[in-house]
Amino acid sequence: MTAENTVELDSEQGAPVTDGTETRPTLPRIAMQQPKPRSETSETVVTLQDVGVWYGDYHALRGVNMEVNRNEITALIGPSGCGKSTLLRSINRMNDLIPGARVGGTIEVHGTDIYGSDVDPVEVRRHIGMVFQKPNPFPKSIYDNIAYGPRVLGQKKNLDDIVEESLTRAVLWDEVKDKLKTSGLSLSGGQQQRLCIARCIAVRPQVILMDEPCASLDPIATLKIEDLMQELADDYTIIIVTHNMQQAARVSDRTAFFTAKLDEHGERFGELVEYDLTHSIFTQPKDQRTEDYVSGRYG
Ligand code: ADP
Repeated sequence: MTAENTVELDSEQGAPVTDGTETRPTLPRIAMQQPKPRSETSETVVTLQDVGVWYGDYHALRGVNMEVNRNEITALIGPSGCGKSTLLRSINRMNDLIPGARVGGTIEVHGTDIYGSDVDPVEVRRHIGMVFQKPNPFPKSIYDNIAYGPRVLGQKKNLDDIVEESLTRAVLWDEVKDKLKTSGLSLSGGQQQRLCIARCIAVRPQVILMDEPCASLDPIATLKIEDLMQELADDYTIIIVTHNMQQAARVSDRTAFFTAKLDEHGERFGELVEYDLTHSIFTQPKDQRTEDYVSGRYG
């Protein structure tokens, strides 16, 4: 999508209109630490080329190009309705489950086109796990929540080890080791979210997608999940949608900023504005729209 055939939204629709002459209020910057590269080599795990998503005739998200690196946390930020969740769901083919949804362009994971005709979407979702906004444990015991995925994959041996290891990695083991037969639904919201993360990693995915995983949690539970994400990034590649800019600044290595525009027919669509190291996005954004968003002028 070129700039010529688009117009900016007005501020009530989520993005600012400016003629460039007004004086901008000075807002406090989000405090940022200098980035420390998580790994020496930056191997690309997920490659998005000209990705677009339709819901029926509605072309909701357009022209997304980006590469996600291994063992990094990549944050997707931007105002509500600009297609962050839509994009996240397209990376493990969850959009397939929405009637009328269609994904265009190419999404490769480790070089495999996940929409290829010979690719099984269930297999895609095993390799690319997802954690949702609202914790969704199965109405089963804590043990069975974790053992479920490995059992589906035919694993019969070492389930105890997998359960312990997954709960340990999700920093939940000490809190639940004496009540593994209790329902997962009996846990607190933060514990349920860590249970869902443990369930996700029990099948050893290559990528973990998180759609606002802390949105329903209190600040203490949120910080625990953020710490956990940092730990998990040693082994996993994580992509997180967050409405919380401070969270993106705290946890992520790279940030993709999305916003919404109107096309020449007046149809609203989401697009990727800028993708860079998180430190750069928050301290030296290249695009004025990013600058306006990260400095709190809209969103
Ligand atoms: P964000 O995650 O940035 O808030 P979404 O991905 O939820 O944005 O939505 C992007 C656009 O796609 C919005 O206009 C939204 O109304 C539309 N959309 C999202 N899900 C569906 C759906 N299941 N059916 C139709 N339109 C949808």
